[in-house]
Amino acid sequence: MFGKKKAKPAASENAPQVGAENVVLPPLEVKTIGIGKDEAQGLMIASRQLPGYPTAIILLANAIGGRADRILMDFSAQGAVVRYRIDGNWEGLPPLDRPTGDAALVVMKKMLGLNPVERKAKQEAKFATNFKDIDWVVSFMSAGVPSGERVLISIDTKKPTLKTLTDLGMRETMVTTFRGLLNGNQGIVLVSGPAGQGLPTTWRVTLEAADKYVRDFVSLENKADADPEIINVTQNFFVPGVGDAPEAAYEKILLKQPDVLVMPSLINSYIAERTIDQVSKQSKHAITRMVAADAVDAVIKLLGTYRSEAKDLVKLLTGVINQRLVRRLCSNCKQPFQPTPQLLQKLGIPAGRVQKLFQPTFPPPPEERVDAKGNPIEIEICKKCNGRGYFGRMAIFELLIVDDEMKKAILKYAGTPDEIRKFAKKKGHLGFQEEGILACAMGDTSLQEVQKMMASK
Ligand SMILES: [Zn+2]
Repeated sequence: MFGKKKAKPAASENAPQVGAENVVLPPLEVKTIGIGKDEAQGLMIASRQLPGYPTAIILLANAIGGRADRILMDFSAQGAVVRYRIDGNWEGLPPLDRPTGDAALVVMKKMLGLNPVERKAKQEAKFATNFKDIDWVVSFMSAGVPSGERVLISIDTKKPTLKTLTDLGMRETMVTTFRGLLNGNQGIVLVSGPAGQGLPTTWRVTLEAADKYVRDFVSLENKADADPEIINVTQNFFVPGVGDAPEAAYEKILLKQPDVLVMPSLINSYIAERTIDQVSKQSKHAITRMVAADAVDAVIKLLGTYRSEAKDLVKLLTGVINQRLVRRLCSNCKQPFQPTPQLLQKLGIPAGRVQKLFQPTFPPPPEERVDAKGNPIEIEICKKCNGRGYFGRMAIFELLIVDDEMKKAILKYAGTPDEIRKFAKKKGHLGFQEEGILACAMGDTSLQEVQKMMASK
């Protein structure tokens, strides 16, 4: 639907050189979490003497410095296949031969106080490091698999870097509308997104965006999958089967007369009903959450989960947010282009509305970087994105406003969600495709990314 695809840059092109000898090692200090300082120091001194130390440090430092948030290493009889996940995309590195890969893994385990010879049982450890002026927490996990051993390393910043809805990519007018819903009265706001598409981040930032300074926000959460603490949201927990049942815990919370009920889940029919009662009769407000593919799907899932309360939930629902992730175009090397009338027509954009769209810049593959005589020529590769064309990710948001007409449509077409989507579109609701194209017109992302987002359900 979006015209031809551009060739991707070869994954190995920007791959770090691992295994080079006599290199100056990046200043990556590994501070293992959960063991004594002296012991950690002893392990580090011992690790530095090992032959795999440079490879291990370069692998970790290049991942962190290169914005990877995951490293996946698959060890087999042949060697180790290493991949970095950058902006949600897995990029392969040149494979390591077996001695090099194994030696690096021995060092990683040793530094973290794990058993280097254990290659079957699951082993886990964490370390903290400050690299490029940012505090990081790195989680290491290794376990035997049928083909050998698999290592997954997760890299997170110690403090969240995305703080506002704008940081996440929400456009300004939507921020205003959405905040209006969050700060409203006597309503239920539903926050949703597909699994693995940043829903926990959106949930946290949504609560950050709400006006918690003039109203009391109180949550009830299952201790087993509680959310990280948020300033000015009083968290309450229940452990299924232990101590107070969630019902009793909830009644205790209600006695304190909070203004806003923060409910990652409405938990069960009783609590859903009590929430409905509080919102409709006690002028409370509620915010809840659902894993779902789009806003309409979230509503349908909510109603399906709480069938006997469905009608009342729809009555109180004021808005539903949903989101999907796309890569952000690199601001340094993105290129504007004038879309053809045919392309605009395909995208459903009226002629004259959009003058330019943007596309990523990919350097030609190494074998094409030659002149007519076959001599290599210098091609400037963007220093910001290393020729990836993209830098970081953003969310494309869909905000469904649930007004009286929408409530009627939801109840009428609850069994046929596509009818609800059609109805919403007729009312002028912008779905993911429309929002995605808006983001393209703003120069934030590319049509290829929007196309990929639309294909992922
Ligand atoms: Zn760039």
